[in-house]
Amino acid sequence: MKYKQIEFKSILNKLKYIDTWFWCRYTLNPYRGCEHRCVYCDARRSKYNIENFENIVGAKVDADQMLDKRILRARTLRPDIVSFGGVCDAYQPAEIKFQITRKILSTLKKHKWPCFLLTKSDLILRDIDLFREISRNSYICIAFTINTASDDSAKHFEPFSPPPGKRFKALEKLKSEGLYTGVCAMPILPYVWDSEEQLDELFRRSKQVEADFIIFSSLTLGESMKHDFYPFLDKYRTGLSNKYREIFIKGSYGPIKSYIRKLNKLILELSEKYQIPLRIQKHFIPKDYRKNNYKLAHFLADIAYYRQMKNKTFSSYQWAALNILNSNEDALNLLLQDKLKDIRNFENEEIHNTAKEFLLKIKDEKDE
Ligand code: SF4
Repeated sequence: MKYKQIEFKSILNKLKYIDTWFWCRYTLNPYRGCEHRCVYCDARRSKYNIENFENIVGAKVDADQMLDKRILRARTLRPDIVSFGGVCDAYQPAEIKFQITRKILSTLKKHKWPCFLLTKSDLILRDIDLFREISRNSYICIAFTINTASDDSAKHFEPFSPPPGKRFKALEKLKSEGLYTGVCAMPILPYVWDSEEQLDELFRRSKQVEADFIIFSSLTLGESMKHDFYPFLDKYRTGLSNKYREIFIKGSYGPIKSYIRKLNKLILELSEKYQIPLRIQKHFIPKDYRKNNYKLAHFLADIAYYRQMKNKTFSSYQWAALNILNSNEDALNLLLQDKLKDIRNFENEEIHNTAKEFLLKIKDEKDE
């Protein structure tokens, strides 16, 4: 693997709408490319335009200084959750040499900004000292991508990442430090990791290490990835790509609905059996003046999520959650002034009444 220092224009990407899975408003990539080189990696898709994904990792060596300046200069930039990665793993081996992620975390700690970290590497344990402080002064959520409990099977698809066994151990260590930590089972590869036995084992091991949540998704597969991915599947198991062709219809990005329905049902049953939430819970920043909006958004997004899982209409709830998070007004004040209906999707009576009941219930709750 070759490393090269790269120029970049901005370090912090502000999302138009908050991400209701990880609850981040900002994303940031310390590196361009990822030496974990997972076969199914979404960043391989042509839209990301990452040159030579397999062989070169670009390092943004001054990222922490640029972030520091950005936070200091931008008066309108509101502190909110920064998610690391998206097109890289912030704890890939390059981090041993460059320590860019560590320096960025120090900058976030200095400004008391919250963050979300997702990794496949136990190298993350190096930064426990910073996590403790960020957790004390702001908020941190850490997740390990673990799609299967089987080290052997993971090796085929994630050949350059630490095996799931190491990730479970690292998760256990972070939990013992009192940090909010869970599992991202993303993606669950169809016909490879989606059997009842395998998923049961994934939940069982997660419970064993006291994971706070398991969030999951099936595979997304852009047309540009199929060309390399299908022959790889057939090398893993003869004829497997034909099964994929049946559920990944040309032009669609995810598997067909009947497949998703079956998977959702199984995951709901396992979440119930092992009592592990399928959602990240503690997403708001302690003492944040937008606390009511976050709580309401969380409540509505959860409703949307479980409606979707049960194959019911959900998008109005989802949009109501997103829109209240983009409002500068406190949701409770809006309700008391009879202005909540002015926010898009709250004109829907069912959503308005659900929100009203919830806001009146949390009205007298003490700040956390
Ligand atoms: S660790 Fe994540 S970003 Fe890196 S190659 Fe694997 S899926 Fe892609």
